[in-house]
Amino acid sequence: MVKDMNEKNFRKCVYIVLFILIVLFFTKDFNLFSDFYKNIKPVKHPERLDVLVNKNYQLDENYMPSDLEEVSIQFAYEKKYLRHEARIAFETLAWDALQEGYQIILVSAYRSYSYQEELYHHYVKTSGKNYADRCSARPGHSEHQTGLALDVMGENGDYNLFEETKEFQWMKEHAHEYGFILRYPSDGYDITGFKYEPWHYRYVGVELAQSLTKENITLDEYYFKKYGK
Ligand SMILES: [Zn+2]
Repeated sequence: MVKDMNEKNFRKCVYIVLFILIVLFFTKDFNLFSDFYKNIKPVKHPERLDVLVNKNYQLDENYMPSDLEEVSIQFAYEKKYLRHEARIAFETLAWDALQEGYQIILVSAYRSYSYQEELYHHYVKTSGKNYADRCSARPGHSEHQTGLALDVMGENGDYNLFEETKEFQWMKEHAHEYGFILRYPSDGYDITGFKYEPWHYRYVGVELAQSLTKENITLDEYYFKKYGK
């Protein structure tokens, strides 16, 4: 009888622990234990090359970079705009890649606050808020609004499958030489707030890109270390 009771209690404990683990697993996705989209601060210097825009740092609704330039159509899917320095760096990168037989095409670059608003609400409407928050950024929280971020595709013509291309391997080896970093690495969700995006690159300037790549740290970590949270 006593043995039975102990066994029953033990089983109960196991079920409770399992239940807690499952709840923890899911709530992590729902950001209950993270501060994503909580304690939101305005971005003070949006024009800086090392500007941090994430789920806690928000760009003003009216912010639009003053030096946006159209990217050469040779390297873009359609009309796309980047800030002057990022535009030159990207075109140089895409040109050098092409000389070696790699075709890197821009699919998304500067996005305005209102465009991001539409995009985010489209995801919410079609797939729900949790999905939208994992795959997209709320308006003001997308670094595409800085004019320094871009999404690319390679030989298979699908940015979602960019990781499978030889162009991705080329970017892995060379992006930092042109001032770009892979902004959302596969193990970075807890820090960046975004799932792995092999297609998304951010211009930060050659010096910083080289050092972030060498140290293998995210822009968020660099920023917090330099400026505090
Ligand atoms: Zn992107």
